[in-house]
Amino acid sequence: MYDISKIREDFPILSREVYGKPLVYLDNGATTQKPRSVVEAITNEYYSVNANVHRGVHFLSQQATELHEASRETVRRFINARSTNEIIFTRGTTESINLLASSFAESQMQAGDEVIVSTMEHHSDIVPWQLQAAKRGIVIKVIPMNDKGELLQDAYKQLFSEKTKLVCVMHVSNVLGTVNPVKEMIAEAHAHGVPVLVDGAQSVPHMKVDVQDLDADFFAFSGHKVYGPTGVGVLYGKEEWLDKLPPYQGGGEMIQSVSFEKTTFNELPFKFEAGTPDYIGTTALAKALDYVTAIGMDQIAAHEHELTQYAMQRLKQIEGMRIFGEAEHKSSVISFLVGNIHHLDMGTLLDRLGIAVRTGHHCAQPLMQRLGIEGTVRASFGLYNTKEEIDILAAGIERVSRMF
Ligand code: PMP
Repeated sequence: MYDISKIREDFPILSREVYGKPLVYLDNGATTQKPRSVVEAITNEYYSVNANVHRGVHFLSQQATELHEASRETVRRFINARSTNEIIFTRGTTESINLLASSFAESQMQAGDEVIVSTMEHHSDIVPWQLQAAKRGIVIKVIPMNDKGELLQDAYKQLFSEKTKLVCVMHVSNVLGTVNPVKEMIAEAHAHGVPVLVDGAQSVPHMKVDVQDLDADFFAFSGHKVYGPTGVGVLYGKEEWLDKLPPYQGGGEMIQSVSFEKTTFNELPFKFEAGTPDYIGTTALAKALDYVTAIGMDQIAAHEHELTQYAMQRLKQIEGMRIFGEAEHKSSVISFLVGNIHHLDMGTLLDRLGIAVRTGHHCAQPLMQRLGIEGTVRASFGLYNTKEEIDILAAGIERVSRMF
């Protein structure tokens, strides 16, 4: 049984009001709210365990290290990686992708080599490659999509050449909600001997992810989008790949020995974790993963699927409604525009009704160019949202529409 009222009680912020109205929080694509267990893990660790990890012989340092490394194991289990050596803690998806872009391009790519990305990528999976393109003369190729917001698989297959070195594709679009067929796309890339990075920022919070089943070579996600704290994320990489890649940043933790003549690097995963990690954040992230695991990722996915179906059907009844993203496999993200109402006006007026939605280009300007628009209003649902909130959203949109 999916006990939504009990779940909502775990999130104190959901019962607050804004402008005297009950908060309807529909900006989960940007960040999610945190359950008590996550916030309490942070205060508890600061109050009773805090010490720097990996370096101390003293009791607290060892306890903090145990918590930090236990969190790595929780992440491993959550995405079904083979080994904790394959779990690199980062600041989030953006840092995970930048790490990979830098280390991969430096060691595996030469001028003229190609990376394939998709039309719907987030800026964080485009700009790091553009930085590498400027530095090393690598070439970016783009998978096109149809008007429903699905990547064109035949065109994708045509993009491979002997110069293709990597494919980077998002699992779920933060704008369209499209669930890309990454397992099949990975198999295709592997048939060409090409590894794949999956941006899982918008899939990990909404569905069961198994990196071995996908056969992903690299997989990135952010803690704060899966009910965890800000400032911590993950880069998963197959051990055989991570072994081949050079460190991203230099400093403490990532070395074995340092002299001015020669420095040797630490083993995985520490080779990629220079400096003091956010060990409080990793504990809290593990709590968040425990939280969603206890509810069940399949149960969360089913609940959100029902919400999305309901919302699609409800919003489509509104006059002048244009929905962007009608893929067959769609996650709980709905982007829309109504008539000629500017997305910013719609978002601002909905906000006055207590409804938090996102407006703008959603860090996907190339996708906006493909859609021929400047931005959208985006409602994105999480495990605690309800049909009543969707009714409030629909009534709010209708009310704003009448004003124009
Ligand atoms: N990729 C996707 C698909 C996203 O939705 C986001 C966040 N909007 C990111 C990457 C970047 O995540 P972060 O800001 O947590 O690094």
